[in-house]
Amino acid sequence: MKDTIVLYPALGSGHLMSMIELGKLILTHHTSFSITILILTPPTNNNNNQHLLSHTKQYIASVTTTFPSINFHYIPTISFPTTLPPQSLTLELSHQSNHHVQNILQSISKTTNIKAVILDFLTYSASQVTTTLEIPTYFYYTSGATVLSMFIYFPTIHQNATKPIKDLHMPLQIPGLPKNISTDDYPDEAKDPETKAYKVLLDSAKTMRECDGIIVNTFDAIEEKSIKSLNEGLFVPDGITPPIFCIGPLITASYGEDENGCLSWLDSQPSQSVVFLSFGSMGRFSKAQLNAIAFGLEKSEQRFLWVVRSELELDELSLDELLPKGFLERTNEKGMVVKNWAPQREILSHDSVGGFVTHCGWNSILEAVCEGVPMVTWPLYAEQNLNKVILVEEMKVALKLNGSKDGFVSENELGVRVKELMNSNKGEEIRQKIFKMKISAKKAKEENGSSLVALNKLAQLWNENKQYDI
Ligand code: UDP
Repeated sequence: MKDTIVLYPALGSGHLMSMIELGKLILTHHTSFSITILILTPPTNNNNNQHLLSHTKQYIASVTTTFPSINFHYIPTISFPTTLPPQSLTLELSHQSNHHVQNILQSISKTTNIKAVILDFLTYSASQVTTTLEIPTYFYYTSGATVLSMFIYFPTIHQNATKPIKDLHMPLQIPGLPKNISTDDYPDEAKDPETKAYKVLLDSAKTMRECDGIIVNTFDAIEEKSIKSLNEGLFVPDGITPPIFCIGPLITASYGEDENGCLSWLDSQPSQSVVFLSFGSMGRFSKAQLNAIAFGLEKSEQRFLWVVRSELELDELSLDELLPKGFLERTNEKGMVVKNWAPQREILSHDSVGGFVTHCGWNSILEAVCEGVPMVTWPLYAEQNLNKVILVEEMKVALKLNGSKDGFVSENELGVRVKELMNSNKGEEIRQKIFKMKISAKKAKEENGSSLVALNKLAQLWNENKQYDI
């Protein structure tokens, strides 16, 4: 019987695509395994989910052709009356799908040896099944080691806090983490103990502390201190954390067409002259903020490629209606603006791109590191504030935007910062720094590189695992 590793990703392209990429990586270096991926099927009662489903299925079809040793199993749909965002939907679906997961695992174990199951922090409830079936349980953390440290530390801070995290405003003195991190940097969902999200995150963090190993999409050269303290178990009272395997940077395959011709426009621009602005899959701005970005870009006098997403229904409004009057004509020579989506990975790897204004999503950060593109940070949601601190204070490969208390960034601040990034000694300094990281990223994945060594250790552990009679 062939050995298989089962992956159970969350819904949402960031989690799903990254987990599939992990499956490809395992197969590329350890051909004795097959990969089994369990796919949650969102309810089909609204258009958003339909879109998610058809997008997922398309991508999966392409992976099946190129990697026939990856087998996908769709978990049967469960109906929900309401429309939930992907994270809550994953949690609800996975909580209620445990009996299906158990059936699938038992069924595939008739023809293959399940060597390990790898969960996402949002599908953690399946650990009840893997514990019952006595299968080794790992997690794949799609963000970095510093954020993981904060997550692993979360139950400790919860236990010791005299008041809710949202009211603490306290510096976090965790060994190995950047000095300026405070309780304020926890994502909103982890601040109010009265909310369901808080309880779920706490539960997930506790489960993760008990698992057989955590695979992290990062590499030694960019988060050395955090990785070291994670390995030393400095975040938990008993000093014992699961083994950590840093196998990154894993960059997900690009999806979506270059409908607007961004790449051919870049072909006509000078080397390293364009600043790229993109804010992940969910970053949206008010009209006032879009105006400030537009005027800020004009002030910076730099070439730019900007992916615009608005809080308003973008499909109904043209760019002309969304942006300041005359902006598109005035900047026609220097800039390109596209709606909604652009092929970010290819754009960042284009020689004409010399800077990146980013919302600090972890995938975006890794993509910029792998291409050696310096950044300006503009965190918007989730753990992005923490990622900003890492970029600016630890890695020192980005300039930061302060914004106002409510997060509004003025045209002046943006203009000054973009100009500084593209055209100053400081900008040049961080460009050199990130260029070195690009080389380290490549080395980490070569033979004897830290990430490949970590992957090989994992495979060795899986190979040593006994056979599970489930
Ligand atoms: N992305 C893209 N085009 C866009 C916006 C995003 O290709 O216009 C991709 C980007 O390259 C990255 C992912 O979507 O791989 C976003 O992931 P990230 O972790 O940066 O942010 P999230 O969307 O999870 O907040």
